Amino acid sequence: MVTQQNIKTDIYAVRRGRPKVYSVNKNYHCPRCNRGFTLKRNMVKHQRHECGMEPKYQCPYCGKLSKFTQNLYAHIRKYHVGLGLYVEKLY
Ligand SMILES: [Zn+2]
Ligand SMILES: [Zn+2]
Repeated sequence: MVTQQNIKTDIYAVRRGRPKVYSVNKNYHCPRCNRGFTLKRNMVKHQRHECGMEPKYQCPYCGKLSKFTQNLYAHIRKYHVGLGLYVEKLY
């Protein structure tokens, strides 16, 4: 399940044509799914709340993941004031 998710994420990265995002400035990697994070606390949060689950959406501004677009729209309104309401669909 984790491996499957990882493969999907990699395919997505290639399709988007920006694999660098996944290899630059990602100093911390989840030992379970190998997803990269710029901050260790983001990785810890990911491991506690997201790894093994299936978040489908991601904030394009900070990389926050969520299973629900509503949560990200609320997040963007709160933390990225003035920026467009837009989420990245992971798969
Ligand atoms: Zn993980
Ligand atoms: Zn964000």
